[in-house]
Amino acid sequence: MQRFESAREAARTLRPDAPVYCFRPDVLKADARRFMEMFPGRTAYAVKTNGEELVLRTLAEAGVTMFDVASPGEFEAVRAVSRGAEMIYMHPVKAQSDIRLALESYGIRVLAVDHEDEVAKLTRVVRALDIDPGSITVFVRIQTKGHAAYELSKKFGAGPAHAVEIGERLNKIGYRVGLCFHVGSQIEDPDTYERALASADWVRNRLSFDIAGLDVGGGFPAEYGLDPNSKKPPMPALGQLMSRVRGDLKEYGFDEVPLVAEPGRVIVARAFSLIVRVLLRKGRRLYINDGIWASLSDSWTGKITLPARYIPDPAIKSRAGEADKIVPFRVCGATCDSVDILSRPFWLPETVHTGDWIEIGHIGAYSLSLRTRFNGFYPDTFVEVTTPFDEGDTPEGFASLETMAGAMDLPEG
Ligand SMILES: *Cc1c(COP(=O)(O)O)cnc(C)c1O
Repeated sequence: MQRFESAREAARTLRPDAPVYCFRPDVLKADARRFMEMFPGRTAYAVKTNGEELVLRTLAEAGVTMFDVASPGEFEAVRAVSRGAEMIYMHPVKAQSDIRLALESYGIRVLAVDHEDEVAKLTRVVRALDIDPGSITVFVRIQTKGHAAYELSKKFGAGPAHAVEIGERLNKIGYRVGLCFHVGSQIEDPDTYERALASADWVRNRLSFDIAGLDVGGGFPAEYGLDPNSKKPPMPALGQLMSRVRGDLKEYGFDEVPLVAEPGRVIVARAFSLIVRVLLRKGRRLYINDGIWASLSDSWTGKITLPARYIPDPAIKSRAGEADKIVPFRVCGATCDSVDILSRPFWLPETVHTGDWIEIGHIGAYSLSLRTRFNGFYPDTFVEVTTPFDEGDTPEGFASLETMAGAMDLPEG
């Protein structure tokens, strides 16, 4: 893989017309280690967030020894980078053939369920393979309610009373039984975890046995850009959120049980940025060479303002507008349908021109894993970049994180 100091250097050297992913392995390692230090239990990286081989390999190098997997493809991807990594199979609804593959070929011994039919399915496989249920930990997934950019509690999870029933059933068969939840993704309200912990506490207090562990799922928020017009309160920093979670765990007495977290987004978001090209500027609209069917669907569904950095093409000698005036641009994606328009603008200097590049930061989560081949566009070019996105050279315009504070003082465009 070609290596550059910055995305700007990559753009100006390669002059790419197709999107380019800029991978930052050191940032990925640092963010994984930061999470592992903060969380008072084991960290299982959620493979669905970004299951690229280079990501999984780098995480294994950083000391991640546990992975949250959901499908044969993910079992295989983890095995390919690490013989010894432990996998936890936390999808509550599984094909029986996949359960068999997990137990028989991949040695997986941790699974999740949220219904008695799933317990029956699992137990059929366990009996057929003559495995001791006592060597398997089954987490009962509890339904949670909360506010996340993505609400995932609608789809999975047993109500608290039902969870007690499932737990008792599992215990009677001889499994080790844990409790788990997943509150959604990009959690901005720290009360969300507390509400889930309160439910888990309610369930635990009604079980006739001690639980083998608590898995708090993922959902830990990544940093994105700031919309200066947004009325929403600023997001809590990860450190704050985590110290609140640690306090809540202690308060409910869960600090005494083995803990697991399944972070995805918070670990991998900063590890990639994406260089896109402005194929056409039409007034305050930019038509770029990526979009919601490729790398940007997550920002669309999650209504996330992505931090964007301007990389002007030096070959363009004359530009209209003021270089230090930051304005919102509506961003249209590469495909021919009119759904492919981002839900949030990019904040960039007024001088953006057809042919310029934009570096979109913090794009590592749910970007390349959600690419489609719709309309024949499939971004698949990678370079390595050494400087973190947030520490880049002082750009002509950087409508993002810290510098957004400055942009807020600018007159409305
Ligand atoms: C998607 C998912 C995760 C990861 O969520 P993030 O918000 O990316 O941290 C963790 N656990 C489960 C069960 C998931 O479905």
